[in-house]
Amino acid sequence: MNPQNHHGSTSTSTSAFSALAAYGWDADWADAFAPYAAEGLLPGRVVRVDRGQCDIVTADGTIRADTAFVTPHDPMRVLCTGDWAAVEPAGNPRYVRAYLPRRTAFVRSTSSKRSEGQILAANVDHAVVAVSCGADLDLGRIERFLALAWESGAQPVVVLTKADLVPDPVTRSYLVQDVETAAPGVPVLTVSAEHGDGLDTLAAVLGGGTSVLLGQSGAGKSTLANALLGTDVMDVQAVRDVDGKGRHTTTTRNLLALPGGGVLIDTPGLRGVGLWDAGSGVGQVFAEIEELAERCRFHDCAHESEPGCAVRAALEAGELPERRLESYRKLQRENQYIVAKTDARLRAEIRKEWKRKGAAGKAAMEAKRGRLR
Ligand code: GDP
Ligand code: ZN
Repeated sequence: MNPQNHHGSTSTSTSAFSALAAYGWDADWADAFAPYAAEGLLPGRVVRVDRGQCDIVTADGTIRADTAFVTPHDPMRVLCTGDWAAVEPAGNPRYVRAYLPRRTAFVRSTSSKRSEGQILAANVDHAVVAVSCGADLDLGRIERFLALAWESGAQPVVVLTKADLVPDPVTRSYLVQDVETAAPGVPVLTVSAEHGDGLDTLAAVLGGGTSVLLGQSGAGKSTLANALLGTDVMDVQAVRDVDGKGRHTTTTRNLLALPGGGVLIDTPGLRGVGLWDAGSGVGQVFAEIEELAERCRFHDCAHESEPGCAVRAALEAGELPERRLESYRKLQRENQYIVAKTDARLRAEIRKEWKRKGAAGKAAMEAKRGRLR
């Protein structure tokens, strides 16, 4: 792999590669890791972080490591589930020395007085927004989750769960169409964990990367996770462990390899997600409105009563639902409120990190939309 490796660990890194591939390791991660490999450090993916320690899957199995070196004051730089870590090969404790630059990250604006971002999951490729077919459709809520997903850098997928509750295919297709109006550029799938319908398609979509499940409580996320894992997650997750003081503790893994390929991250933080800082994400959810706005006569058109407003023209022509515009405004206001509370330096950092990623995501979305037409 690397013929110039002075430590002669070519075969080691090859076996590490195949063992970690199930957790998302690829050639780009291996390249980024090369300097750490040269120092004799081992690569591994963080499956759980808590109180100064973390669990990491390595080529030699899951190990417990100390996070003292990767727990800086800046909450955005703290090691988190999904990170690729460089861990010491031996020692008691073994220390995580560093982690690789993140491709994507789910960040939450905390509601504390001094609003700071909190990192919830790193290196997520697919954000699955679970929406129950059994509840009244709340498109505004879907749009909010989509904004969070885009903001993270992950590709969103909407999954209409409990499809068995809507057995009529025509009604079901109307449901999908309604959701599609709120989700331009986003695949919308239907699944029934109960009957197994649509699970293969979803498993194939998620097979190529790391996923998270978002959605309201009761949307069917746990059931879906169990169905994808082909077993009861809680049974899989519960690991009887002996802590430093000899007590038995039950630990949970927040990152699991899926049997059909891919990885699922399910952290308590992601579950209870509330308001997030999702500025550019909002723009991507409402891409068609932003496109229209570019054709308004005034650059700073508020789409209220300005002459030459392309957004109002689309509304009047029935091409843009009033609800979409209202939802757009609501999420923008909400976001501005959070932004005002959030540290400016932090925001600049997030923007810088995902600017490139966001541009790539937008291009991919446009390509997809072009294909759908
Ligand atoms: P979560 O809060 O998002 O994790 O949702 P759960 O997975 O706990 O599911 C909420 C409820 O929906 C539970 O009572 C499940 O049994 C039910 N449910 C989940 N998936 C399905 C499904 O495919 N079909 C039906 N009919 N019910 C489901
Ligand atoms: Zn306008």
